[in-house]
Amino acid sequence: MFSSSVRPLALDQVPAFDHEVDVIVVGFGCAGASAALEADAAGASVALLEKYSGGGGSSALSGGEMYLGGGTAIQQACGFDDTPEDMQKFLSAALGPDTDQDKVSLYCRDSVEHFDWLVAQGVPFKPSLWDSPTWVPPTDDGLMWMGERAHPFAGIAKPAPRGHRVTADGFGGKVLMEVLGARVAESGVDVHTDTGVTQLILDGDRVVGVVARRFNDTVYYRARGGVVLTTGGFGDNAEMVAQHAPQLVGLGINSDGGDDGRGIALAQAAGAAVRHMSAGQVGISLIPGMAVRGMVVDANGRRFINEDVYPGLIGQAALFKHGLHVWVILDEQAYEEVPEAERWGVQPHFVAETLAELEQEIGMPDGALQSTVGEYNRHAEQGDDPYFHKEARWVRPLTSPFAAIDVRRGIAPPEYGDSKPGGAEVFTTGGLRTNVDGAVLDLDDEPIPGLYAAGRATSGLHSWGYISGTSLGDGTFFGRRAGIAAAG
Ligand SMILES: Cc1cc2nc3c(=O)[nH]c(=O)nc-3n(C[C@H](O)[C@H](O)[C@H](O)COP(=O)(O)OP(=O)(O)OC[C@H]3O[C@@H](n4cnc5c(N)ncnc54)[C@H](O)[C@@H]3O)c2cc1C
Repeated sequence: MFSSSVRPLALDQVPAFDHEVDVIVVGFGCAGASAALEADAAGASVALLEKYSGGGGSSALSGGEMYLGGGTAIQQACGFDDTPEDMQKFLSAALGPDTDQDKVSLYCRDSVEHFDWLVAQGVPFKPSLWDSPTWVPPTDDGLMWMGERAHPFAGIAKPAPRGHRVTADGFGGKVLMEVLGARVAESGVDVHTDTGVTQLILDGDRVVGVVARRFNDTVYYRARGGVVLTTGGFGDNAEMVAQHAPQLVGLGINSDGGDDGRGIALAQAAGAAVRHMSAGQVGISLIPGMAVRGMVVDANGRRFINEDVYPGLIGQAALFKHGLHVWVILDEQAYEEVPEAERWGVQPHFVAETLAELEQEIGMPDGALQSTVGEYNRHAEQGDDPYFHKEARWVRPLTSPFAAIDVRRGIAPPEYGDSKPGGAEVFTTGGLRTNVDGAVLDLDDEPIPGLYAAGRATSGLHSWGYISGTSLGDGTFFGRRAGIAAAG
């Protein structure tokens, strides 16, 4: 499964240490940068090891959306009241079942402080709202809804928009990592690139360092305080995906290509427990603004979810219950209302004057769409959606000509070029079991001395569900805590 053994090396097998520091952070994405900055600020000497020639990781490719709330300055500037309690209720429902309540509770309680920390590092957020479901706003708006107003969540917690999007032209992850990278460069953190960690070093049951490969050399690092693993998920390791998350097999992988799961395996080989390894974000190949103005149906033309939820939840329902054999059905008005920049070049694959013709073109059973759209339109005349409770603002009778989009034909944002993985792009959200201070726990729920982790190498806030922004959010938040704990 790995090109070399992931088993730990015993301290007495180390010929000599090449470097000795207080804290070693493995992986220079958002979680690693945050861990290194906080360990440095706590007075520790820090080595940040990155297998590639530069930092960034998947974090730099991301949309730059961070799930934050409880009354941040941006929320207030946009006129929204929010509380940590409502944020916690929403996240527990959306990321559940079986979310780690200690983590979710702390994350929500300290979310305003974390937002302020990001701003203090120089991360820009614009105080303006993008007010429609989307993957990434086509504008530079800094606040967005993540399905908080949608059924059933609006009945569980008072809705407030909590998607904080780093100000950028397009995807904001590059700006986030430029800013955090600049802070790391100014700090005392010693960055070693082209340095891939291959093993942990153990003194008894305590992690005291790592072995790394730099080109043809083997390099030994000693950590007096702790090792923090921030190596990302395992989506790029086909064998691990098949073993732990078989429902994700064969789909596009949403990553920088380096999510090989080695960090997770290194810790497992030292006795670490894992959690929620089958869970993943399902970036379904549809334009949320089109889906919400029309409907999403299965191969029999039946709706299965309210289309105003966070689109990753549509993706999970479509993949896990319908094998991604789903279509977006819409009319001309619904298509035209979506700004061109938000369409990512997607055009209908089938267009027909009548629903009977559309069914025939798609290959759906006779009457399938006529029945679904007919029933939808009957209630939509009154602005109701009694079956799935989509918010009234998105409910309107669909009229001829009708169109259908086959999600298995794929989409991609303009800045990601021609590659259009069909159906969905996924990344894993399960990983190492950690406590709120980033300590990696063993099978008895006891911290493994000297070992910490954060980001997608861990099972952070997530259980089965996913909401955009919780990955950069928990990576930076628990990365900071792991860095402080390792330094302490
Ligand atoms: C296109 C795209 C859009 C996304 N949009 C969002 C979004 O808007 N909001 C959100 O919250 N999430 C988003 N995500 C998910 C999010 O980007 C990732 O889950 C998150 O960045 C993970 O952060 P991390 O620090 O754990 O890992 P990464 O950022 O991947 O960093 C891990 C680093 O560790 C290095 N590494 C790995 N193994 C080793 C080793 N053995 N030795 C040394 N170094 C190693 C890697 O090279 C990498 O640089 C998106 C992802 C993609 C790909």
